[in-house]
Amino acid sequence: MKAMNGDSAKQASRPIESNANILVVDDEPRLLQSLITLLSERGFYADAALGGKAACQLLTQRDYDLVLLDLRMADMDGHQVMDFMNRRDIRAATVVVSGESSFSSVSRALRRGAYDYIKKPFDADELIATVTNALSKRQLERSHDDVQHRLRKSEELHRYIVNSSPDIVFMLDSDGRFCFLNSKVEALLGYSCGELLGRHFRHLVDDQDVAKAMYTFQDPNINATNPRTIELRLKTRGSRKANRHFEITAFPMDGNALGMKATDGVADNVDAQIYGTARDITERKEAEAFINFQAYHDLLTRLPNRALFKDRLNLAITHARRNSQKLAVMFLDLDRFKVVNDTLGHAMGDRLLQAVSQRLESCLRRGDTLSRFGGDEFTLLLPAISSHEDARKIARKLISVLKAPFQLGEHEVFVGVSIGIAVFPDAGQSMDQLIQNADIAMYHVKGRGKDGYQFFNDAMSINNTTHRLGLERDLRRALEQNEMRVFYQPQVSAIDGHIVGVEALVRWQHPERGLLYPRDFLPLAEETKLIGDLSQLVLGTACREVRDWLSDGNQKVRLAVNFSPSQVEHPRFVQQLLAQLDHFNFPAENLEVEITENVIMNDLEQMSRKLQELAAHGIRIAIDDFGTGYSSLSYLHRLPIHTLKVDQTFIRGIRAGEDGACIVNAIVAMAHGLRLDIVAEGVETAEQLQYLRELGCQQVQGFYYGPARPAEEIGGLLTGQRQSVRISKAG
Ligand code: C2E
Ligand code: CA
Ligand code: CA
Repeated sequence: MKAMNGDSAKQASRPIESNANILVVDDEPRLLQSLITLLSERGFYADAALGGKAACQLLTQRDYDLVLLDLRMADMDGHQVMDFMNRRDIRAATVVVSGESSFSSVSRALRRGAYDYIKKPFDADELIATVTNALSKRQLERSHDDVQHRLRKSEELHRYIVNSSPDIVFMLDSDGRFCFLNSKVEALLGYSCGELLGRHFRHLVDDQDVAKAMYTFQDPNINATNPRTIELRLKTRGSRKANRHFEITAFPMDGNALGMKATDGVADNVDAQIYGTARDITERKEAEAFINFQAYHDLLTRLPNRALFKDRLNLAITHARRNSQKLAVMFLDLDRFKVVNDTLGHAMGDRLLQAVSQRLESCLRRGDTLSRFGGDEFTLLLPAISSHEDARKIARKLISVLKAPFQLGEHEVFVGVSIGIAVFPDAGQSMDQLIQNADIAMYHVKGRGKDGYQFFNDAMSINNTTHRLGLERDLRRALEQNEMRVFYQPQVSAIDGHIVGVEALVRWQHPERGLLYPRDFLPLAEETKLIGDLSQLVLGTACREVRDWLSDGNQKVRLAVNFSPSQVEHPRFVQQLLAQLDHFNFPAENLEVEITENVIMNDLEQMSRKLQELAAHGIRIAIDDFGTGYSSLSYLHRLPIHTLKVDQTFIRGIRAGEDGACIVNAIVAMAHGLRLDIVAEGVETAEQLQYLRELGCQQVQGFYYGPARPAEEIGGLLTGQRQSVRISKAG
């Protein structure tokens, strides 16, 4: 331990240079030895080289700080050794020790890079002083080299980081000219850095974005901690239009804080004001644009879709209103498209739609909007027309342009088009109204035998509040494709809770909109005369299903079916109904026909005869929604009526303890007098049931016992009821 301490103390007391590697070169062994000895006496360690060649060999093997070099040597003189060192870039300090003192020899050695010169015979102190000086100079040199090296490494690292950035990194001077760019600009925009340095940034930026960029770069509120981000379109090399999108983040920089140095990529007189990065967001932008396009266009025909059409129509209406102008909305529906689609397949149908769109578009002016509204329907907006005549011309053109056959592969097909036209402001003030009325007008064309056009007029408007757009087509399809369901609501004995009858209530299982209730489609079915088909379907289904229950041992169960005024008013109503019952083999005495008071009052004579006929065949008649219509009680005893159905509003009144209850009292009392059955509708609570029971009301119907349900569920209820009756009888 002690020895080690002593050793390190001794080392610390030695001059720093004593750690240095010294090489002494002389071809005279005696002189060489005396130099080595002198140096080691003064604390220096030195290697000895006997002659120039030996020196060169050692110099290539070890790294020396200092070479004490004899000039005149036999094998290879000192000048040659220095040449060798220069060639090999050996950077040891050289002190020449020689007997030669001629000026030329000294200056030659100094020119070759020698640090100093010592004359033989030398003075020991002088020699040591020179050696010490040379070594400390060498050490300075070394640390300088080291700093240089580290700087170079650091610069390389930063350059690497900047150039490997996924973004363009740039700096702008106070005039907006590039004074720095990383090499990414080449990969992303095709320019070399050199090309852009010194050029104004506007050469890169889309013309329309230049002002925005200027504004941002000059914004006084931005700084390094609060940079500004903007999106700019940039031009790639050689393109006149900007075709790539970049997200630029930029902030002004404190130029004084950076003692910047010109290197490649940086212009010489750097006066950087703005530092920024530019990230290529073209792909994201394109994806966004596509999503946008998709949201507002039909991808098959690339036409605007319903949403975009409505948007444009809204704008056009505002504009037309402000300028007291007219505009036209056309609703186009292809004739015979379905045939093509069904016989040649969807792919051909798609091609036909594309071809049709193209032909239609060829008839339009700029500013008109043709859109695919759905299926084979198109809508067209003519935003500024001076008269109906303008729209008429276009309609004729559209019809004629579709007249020529379409070639689909080897097939030649013909389609026509029915066009309804609604002109603002006469045929509607709002977007929805115009579209709807154009649709209604189009249906009139279809009704007249297709392929033509028709302007909307008020007489066509059947029911403006009904949302009938497209619904009629749906309804036709529903009837064809059997989307109609019949649900049954039990009519229950108030005394023992047994099901005594069921009311058939139609439902529409719509493929997209789910289960629809009568209020959603019955008015339309009435208007479009589809009610006949619909009723037949309901009656048929109900007869079949209820008949099964009857033959399953529920012989007494009554089927109540609703009939609309138009059906009952039909001259052959009775015959048709009887024929249907016959056809379905359904016992007439189990059917109850529900009609409203209003139907009867419209034509009392006629109705009286019809009802007599039905009753003669055993069919029961119920007055639906009793109390809400004429409430003229005088007709009741003249007609063969069996049941009064007390309207829900009065039953609701029971709960509230209002007038409703009084009316129920009156109706029930009157019905008793006339020996009519009573069915209270819309019974929802035990309280209501109790009240009605006490009043002597025999039958109830309502959510208290359950809503209308599918046949299977009612079938189950009936079976359960039969079994419990058997059990209680047995007991
Ligand atoms: P409605 O003949 O008065 O039928 C009773 C309506 O009241 C049914 O509505 C029924 O679901 C509902 N309801 C039953 N119990 C309650 C209750 O406790 N509370 C409340 N709030 N409502 C109750 P739905 O099925 O929507 O039928 C509406 C109307 O549509 C019927 O009124 C009927 O006039 C007509 N309708 C239904 N099916 C047919 C049909 O096949 N042919 C014809 N022509 N009309 C039908
Ligand atoms: Ca009813
Ligand atoms: Ca009713």
